[in-house]
Amino acid sequence: MIIALFCTEGLLQLKIMLLLEKGTKCLGGGRILSHLSSFSMDCRGRMSFLKKILAGIALLMLFGVAPVCADGLHILRDEEIERGLQIMSRPIFDQTELDADSIKFILVDDSEMNAFVAGGRNIFLHSGLILKTQTPAELIGVIAHEMGHIADGHLFRIKTEMSNLSLQAMFTNLLGVAVAIGARSPEAGIAISSLGTNIASRDFLRHTRTQEGSADQAGVRYLQKAGLPVSGFLNFMKKLSSQEHLPESRQSQYVRTHPLTQDRIDFLQRVVDENPHVKTPFAWDEVHRRIRAKLQGYLFPNLALREKDDSVAAKYGRAIAWFRKSRLDKALAIIDSLLKVEPKNPYFYELKGQMLFENGHIEDAIIAYEQAAKLAPFSGLIRIAYAHSLLESKVNENECVAEAIRQLTRAIEKEKQMSSPHYLLAVAYGKQGQTGLSNLHLAEEELMQNNIVRAKRAAGFALSKLKKSTPAYQRTLDILAVIEKKEKNKKKNN
Ligand SMILES: [Zn+2]
Repeated sequence: MIIALFCTEGLLQLKIMLLLEKGTKCLGGGRILSHLSSFSMDCRGRMSFLKKILAGIALLMLFGVAPVCADGLHILRDEEIERGLQIMSRPIFDQTELDADSIKFILVDDSEMNAFVAGGRNIFLHSGLILKTQTPAELIGVIAHEMGHIADGHLFRIKTEMSNLSLQAMFTNLLGVAVAIGARSPEAGIAISSLGTNIASRDFLRHTRTQEGSADQAGVRYLQKAGLPVSGFLNFMKKLSSQEHLPESRQSQYVRTHPLTQDRIDFLQRVVDENPHVKTPFAWDEVHRRIRAKLQGYLFPNLALREKDDSVAAKYGRAIAWFRKSRLDKALAIIDSLLKVEPKNPYFYELKGQMLFENGHIEDAIIAYEQAAKLAPFSGLIRIAYAHSLLESKVNENECVAEAIRQLTRAIEKEKQMSSPHYLLAVAYGKQGQTGLSNLHLAEEELMQNNIVRAKRAAGFALSKLKKSTPAYQRTLDILAVIEKKEKNKKKNN
C-alpha cells in the first residue's frame, strides 16, 4: 500500500522535509545512502537527487511514520482495495450511460465518515466510511448514490467565495498530483496549498437536499437494474438517522455533505419493502471483509490485533498490524501461514514483499514481489514496488536493473499519470549509464509534478544525449513542446 500526503496549509514544505528526515531513519538510511553514492546523474547536483530519493522512499514507505498534516487529503493506493471496489461497483457502473472504465476510486485516509465525487468521475471514499460499513450491500449502496451524483452532474453547493469551477479544477489538479505521488515531491501539494484551505471541508462538498433525493433515485435505479439490494443503503442511512437532529458540529461529515431527511429513508424503505430478499453475490462478503481488515490493520493496528477470530481476513489484518508495530517475526509467521492456505494470492505475496523490503531484506523481498507480479500481471502498483526492490539489490545488479526497467515499462502502461515509475526509470537508466534515457524519464516526472524549469533542463540534456529519430528523441521533443506551451500560457496569464 502506498500513502501520499496532500497538505493544504502553508507549512507543507517544512512538514514534508521533516517527514523525510524521519523516513530515512525508520528505513535505515545507511543502505539507501550507499545506493545513492554509487549513483550519479549529469544534469544536476547530487544533493538534489539525494533529496529526491529520500523523499520518494519516505512517501512510499510512509506507514512507519505518523501523518504530519492536520489538514488535507491523505490518499491511499492499494491494488487489492481498488480492485475489490471495482469488482463490487462494476454492475452499478454498467447501468449508467458513462464509460465504466472512466470512473475511478480515490481512497482517502480519513477516519471521518465521508464519500464524495469530484474532479469529474472520481469517487472519493474515506477509509472511515469503508470501515463503518458492515456489509458489501452498505458499501455499494453508498457508491450507487455517489454514481447518482456523477450521472446527474451535481456540483457542490459552495458556501465560500470559491467558485465551483475552481473547485472542480482543483480536484482534477489534485488527482494529477495524487496519482503522481509515490516517488517523492515536497512540491506536490503546492498548487493545493495555495488555496490555503481545507479541501475536505464540509463547506465545499455540501449537496442540496434536492440533489440528495435525485441521487438516491438514480442510485436505487442502478442497484435494481443490476439485481443488487437497496437494503444495504437503507441500513446505512438508518444508522445515520440519529444524527439528523444533532447540531451540525456533532454530525458526521457524511451527513453534513449529504443532508439526511426522513423522506429519503421513507423512500428507501418503500423500495426495500417491495423486494426485500435481494442479496449481493456471496463472494463479495470476503472481498469486503479483506478490504476492511487491510484498512484496519494499516490504520488501526491495535484494533486489528483485538480481532481474535481465525478467519483469513482477521489473520490478514493481524499480519499487517504486527508489521505496522515493527514485529516482523509475528507478521511473517502469519503471512506465511496465509500463503499456505492461498498459495496463489498476489496480495499476500505483495504484503510479504513490502514487509521484507521495509525491514531491509531486499533479496527476500524481490522473491516475494516477483511472485506477486506474476500472479497479478494487471497491477502497475505491484510492478513498481517490485522494480523498486530490484533497484536496491546488490546481487546480480545488472540483471536486476534490466528487469526493473522491464517491470517499470509495463507499469507505466497501467499507471499513466503516476510519476514514480518515471523516477525509478531515471534511476535505472542512470545506473546503466544511459544518461539520455535517464534524463528523458526525469523530464517526464518533473513535468507531471509541474516543475517546468527542472523538466526543461532534464529534457534539454536528454536531447543532447539521445540519438536523433529514435522514439525517445521524439518523446523528448514532445515534452519540450508541452513545456513551451505551458510557458506561453504562464506569460499570458501574468
Ligand atoms: Zn449525496
